[in-house]
Amino acid sequence: MSTRLRADGISSQPMRFDLHTHSVHSDGTTTPTEISHLAASLGLGGFALTDHDTTEGWEEGRVAASAAGLEFLPGMEITTKHEGRSTHLLAYGIDPSHDDLTAALARVRESRVGRAREMVRRLAADFDIVWESVNAEGSVRTVGRPHIADALVDAGYFADRSAAFADVLHPGSAYYLPTYAIDTVEAIRMVRDAGGVAVLAHPAAGRHRRAVDPSVLEILVEAGLWGIELDHPENRREWIPVLADFADAHGLHVTGASDYHGAGKPNRLGEHTSPAAIWDAIRAQVAAPH
Ligand code: AMP
Ligand code: ZN
Ligand code: FE
Ligand code: FE
Repeated sequence: MSTRLRADGISSQPMRFDLHTHSVHSDGTTTPTEISHLAASLGLGGFALTDHDTTEGWEEGRVAASAAGLEFLPGMEITTKHEGRSTHLLAYGIDPSHDDLTAALARVRESRVGRAREMVRRLAADFDIVWESVNAEGSVRTVGRPHIADALVDAGYFADRSAAFADVLHPGSAYYLPTYAIDTVEAIRMVRDAGGVAVLAHPAAGRHRRAVDPSVLEILVEAGLWGIELDHPENRREWIPVLADFADAHGLHVTGASDYHGAGKPNRLGEHTSPAAIWDAIRAQVAAPH
């Protein structure tokens, strides 16, 4: 089952799957339906929708993927923190009604609103932006710095999100505030308890001073971590080998994905992917319907 070939009749390449994408339900700029259409046009076998801290896009993603002849995996990128390091945790197939996890995620989303409001208040001293231009009344999307970036771009201060991130939205900026994050070990335990599969997102992202340390990976594996996302556009190449060796030695799975955000980031859908063996292994063991 893990050597399925692409179904487009053109290529005899093995099918590929994108395990990390964001939609308008968090800080992507395209809908789950648009992601499905794009994934089909690229010849992908399927994709996981992993909006930040929300299950909001799952139903649309499931329906759209099925209509496009694609497989679908409901996922999430959870905002977590391990010993002061901001750590993103990909969770696949969790039961969306799990009490503890649902409560923890609600707390994360609420904290994000308070934090974004306060960052906008600080920015408003020097830039002509207001909260209403960042978060429309009644919006249910998970709010984050990218939405503040959009308001700054719309007001003409920056060319794109990346330019705003490099300047006023950077953690070193006086306007920056951290947001509440779930303890990573706690999050992994909850994901497991909710029938999901936990994968550490971009553990070698260049935005950090160093990759996640193997000693930290030991702790996360102990808590139930299933895999690490080594093939990701923001991982620094020179930091990967030590993580790959660790994964080899500890039976950790290695995934690849694009972290697509539509027009919000340069990452292209399907530019990094996982093989069917990884996709099937995850889908075989998760709780949520897919
Ligand atoms: P936040 O979770 O609110 O702290 O915002 C961080 C999110 O912003 C990350 O998860 C990315 O999705 C996004 N992001 C980070 N850097 C950039 C960038 N340079 N351009 C666009 N989006 C970014
Ligand atoms: Zn994002
Ligand atoms: Fe991330
Ligand atoms: Fe992401």
